[in-house]
Amino acid sequence: MRRTSQIAFFAFFLLIPYLNILRYDSYGHQLFLFGMPWHLSISLKTISSNPNVSSLIIAREFFLKAILPWLGVLAFFPVMGLFFGRFFCGWLCPEGLLFEFADWLTLRVLGRRSIYRRRSTDPEVNNRRRWPYVVLAIFFYALFPPVIGILLSGFFIPPEKILEYIKTGSFSFGLKSAAVGVTIYLIITSVFVRHQFCKYVCAAGLMQMLFGWFRRGSLRVAFLRQQSDRCTDCRACERVCFMDVKPRSPKKNINCVNCGECIIACRKELGMQGGLFHFKFGKDLKTENDSTIPDTGKVKAV
Ligand code: SF4
Ligand code: SF4
Repeated sequence: MRRTSQIAFFAFFLLIPYLNILRYDSYGHQLFLFGMPWHLSISLKTISSNPNVSSLIIAREFFLKAILPWLGVLAFFPVMGLFFGRFFCGWLCPEGLLFEFADWLTLRVLGRRSIYRRRSTDPEVNNRRRWPYVVLAIFFYALFPPVIGILLSGFFIPPEKILEYIKTGSFSFGLKSAAVGVTIYLIITSVFVRHQFCKYVCAAGLMQMLFGWFRRGSLRVAFLRQQSDRCTDCRACERVCFMDVKPRSPKKNINCVNCGECIIACRKELGMQGGLFHFKFGKDLKTENDSTIPDTGKVKAV
């Protein structure tokens, strides 16, 4: 379910310029929004030649056509944060999907989830054949980033031009730059940075984090602390967390992206009906995640 939504959103994001939802034609210097050319209803020529066009009308047009839509776009992440916390990061973000795939691949190639972590002691991980994943990694990083770069160039280069370049095999400078630039960016972020980017750099993540943090009623993963005596301390919930959150901790961690992987991991350990985590809007102080309810001893405040 989560993978499906991540892949679907990634595909949608790549298709935005090709569906004419939003793109800037750098050749014709024209912004297109939902298939329509976007511009102020007063042209620069009219402004300079007609003294009757008051600065008030120009300011109004500019506010309605440029500032207001942009504020609407910017409001998306704070509003998401208010209601769903960092849900977008865990369920929709294309970069999040890429970073999780990089974690998955690194574990199979190097026996560790990232180059900064210790090797796994899990025999299943260590006894696995590595070479098929090495081949997969080589193919993936050789093909995927440049293809993504070419597709993303659709935001600035008309799609029919891109098709023409591909057909003739003679790429423009802009297309080459997009392919090379995106390749360098994706390799650096997915090999060396990964979820540290989500924690410390991404502005969209930061906005969701702050607004989700301020609002008590936002979506979160709750731990059934009053049933913590059923916890086997297997730590599966911590191992699956790619954001390095300790989900049993009484303190809410602002890095949690509400992915629900800890919910699934605990259900695998304790049975479908017996998991100790669940999604919840808001915090019930009397029963969940409440540090005033004593730990049973099994569950450390990690
Ligand atoms: S604590 Fe659970 S829901 Fe939050 S990021 Fe970690 S695995 Fe995902
Ligand atoms: S909460 Fe569940 S997954 Fe986490 S250590 Fe306890 S039993 Fe294991």
